[in-house]
Formats: sequence, C-alpha cells, structure tokens
Amino acid sequence: MMLTCPLCGGKYEDEKYPRRCDCGGPLQLDVFHGKRREVDEVWARYADFFPYHVSKRVTLGEGDTPLVRAERLSDRYGIDLLLKNETVNPTWSFKDRGTVMGVSRTLEIGFDEIGTVSTGNMAASVAAYGAHIGLDTTVIVPASMEEKKLKQIDVYGADIRKKKGDYGDLYYDSLKMGEEEDIYFINSDDPYRVEGYKSIGFELAEEKDVDHVLIPTSSGGLFRGVVKAYEELYESGFVEKIPRLTAVQASGCSPIYRAFQSGEKVKHWNEPDTVAKAIANPLPPSGDLVVKKLQELNGASTAVGDDAILSAQEDITREGIYCQPASAVGVAALDDLMDDVIREGETVVSIVTGSGMKTA
Ligand SMILES: *Cc1c(COP(=O)(O)O)cnc(C)c1O
Ligand SMILES: [Zn+2]
Repeated sequence: MMLTCPLCGGKYEDEKYPRRCDCGGPLQLDVFHGKRREVDEVWARYADFFPYHVSKRVTLGEGDTPLVRAERLSDRYGIDLLLKNETVNPTWSFKDRGTVMGVSRTLEIGFDEIGTVSTGNMAASVAAYGAHIGLDTTVIVPASMEEKKLKQIDVYGADIRKKKGDYGDLYYDSLKMGEEEDIYFINSDDPYRVEGYKSIGFELAEEKDVDHVLIPTSSGGLFRGVVKAYEELYESGFVEKIPRLTAVQASGCSPIYRAFQSGEKVKHWNEPDTVAKAIANPLPPSGDLVVKKLQELNGASTAVGDDAILSAQEDITREGIYCQPASAVGVAALDDLMDDVIREGETVVSIVTGSGMKTA
C-alpha cells in the first residue's frame, strides 16, 4: 500500500515498519471508495473502505456502539445532542477500533510482537488485543509514571518498559525501537489505527444527518479518523455534506488549539496540568494535520478548564453514561460554542471516548 503525507504530499511505499514523512508529518493511506453492504458489523458493512479485513480471530467485538440522545442537555442548549457511547468497547474506550485494524495488519505482515506508547487507554487496548491473539506486547511508559496506573496494562500480561522522557518524546523513541527489536508499535496516529477510527464516522453518518461533531483531541488520531471517514463517504456519495468538526482540548494542555488560534506550527506544551489526563499529549504527532484540516473544512477548536470538564462529566453521568473526564470535554465546550459555532436546533454529536470506571 502507498502512504502519502497530507502536509507536503510526499509519497512512500509502505514498508514493514511504521515511519513518518521526511518533513516530519504523519503518513496516511489514500482515500478509499466503495459500496456499503447490508450486514451487521461495521467492519463488514464498510469492508471496501478498510485496508484489512477484521477476522473473527482478531475481533473482540469493538465498534457498533450506541448513539444516545441526551435529553436534559439537549433541552438546556436547545439542540439535539447525541452522545456516541464509546465506553462500551472491549477495553472501555474507542482505542479498540484502531487497535483492531493495527493488529489485523500485524498478522498480515507477520510481526510476532506488538507495542504502544501510552499511559492509559491505548496501552490497555493494545495489551488486550495482544493477549487475545497471543502476541507478545510491549508498552513503553514514562519512567515517572505511578505504579498504580500500570495495573490496567499489567492485567493483560504486557511487558512494561519504563523510559526517560515524556509521552511526546517516547513516541519517536518507539519507532526506532520497533525497527531494532522487530516490534510493530501501533501508536496514537499510526496510519492503520487511524483507518480503524474511521468506523466511528461511518456509524454516525448512517444513523443521523449530523451538523456538528465534537471530538476530544490529544494526538489527533481520532480527529483524523472521523475526518477521513466523512471525506470518503462524501466522495462515494453517501453524505451530502461533511459535518462541522470541533477539536476540543483541555486548557491545561492545548497545543492544537493554541496553534489553530495563532496560525503557527504546533509546539511542545510545557508541563501539562489537567484532570483530562487521557488527552494530555504535550506534542501531538498529528497536531499540524489537525490544524490543516480544521482550516480546510471550516472546523473549530476550543479548550476547556477542569471545572467545566468535571461538571460536564457529571452532566453526562446524569444522562446515564459514566465517562472519564477527557471524554467530557465535548459537552464541556458547549457553553463556549453555542451561537458562535453551533446554532439552536442543530444536531450535535459528542464522542464520549472512554469509561469513567477507569479513573474512579
Ligand atoms: C486517546 C483518547 C482521546 C484522544 O484521541 P487522540 O487520537 O489521541 O487524539 C480522547 N479521549 C480518550 C478517553 C482517549 O483515551
Ligand atoms: Zn511530508
């Protein structure tokens, strides 16, 4: 398969190990076109749009999650607010949708070992799929990490390696280590992981004519997946418009929002400080691409503080879904977005990315 850099147009033959463009940008598979099939699983319905078939051996039942109307929040804001409940995935976050595609590639190419760099949801997800298909799994975590947070990776039997540096640096270290030790690191914005995230966009588009999607954004992988899904659906004639997309960050770590505002490149965020730990990547590897897409598609971005995040988490819980703080930023941003970006009467989806049980 061919990979293209959406930032500079550079093209690369996809070789065994994940890499980035010589310009530093993330690589991406070209746009898929095709037909939709009338079957149950999202992977089969949109088989034409995914690079690999998701086999029975690999799947843990990720995807096809509920879209739930939030009555009270809809009334409060005068909109039709729908919550895409990703907390019901096999490891309680949307990360499983990307992991399953990465793991499918792993088997196709013939790696014996997989890995990731993460402190939370992604680590648990990769470790669970590694356990499921019987592959050794290595998770790189920052040396400063608290022991008790390692539990959810440890339970699946992954090999945890502590390394100096923050989450931003370790991403680049892992690409080197993968080549040296023959491990496929299915990282945050790996091209195949992003392909798996498209499944959220496909599901949304078939359920509702959506005006806005609010996307909690850290590395930018999820955002890219939703955008690419809608672009492909648009090109194949399934939707008449691409919804307006908003990349929402936590004010305590908002390098993408800052770059979008200033028009400069995404720069390292010093000393992240937020309750929304799952979206606190200080150097988002797909940050510049998210900003580019926001500019091209008339998207929006905002950042929300801890108080707003915690109160939104409670509001979402009162609608019946217990999510983690990072997953509440979309709802937390509504105060800010109403009237300027979102108008009364519109249909808005907030992606509720992961379960609160993990952080309780
Ligand atoms: C990973 C994650 C995100 C953000 O996804 P990115 O692809 O890193 O932008 C949002 N919410 C939760 C709960 C996550 O685990
Ligand atoms: Zn490039």
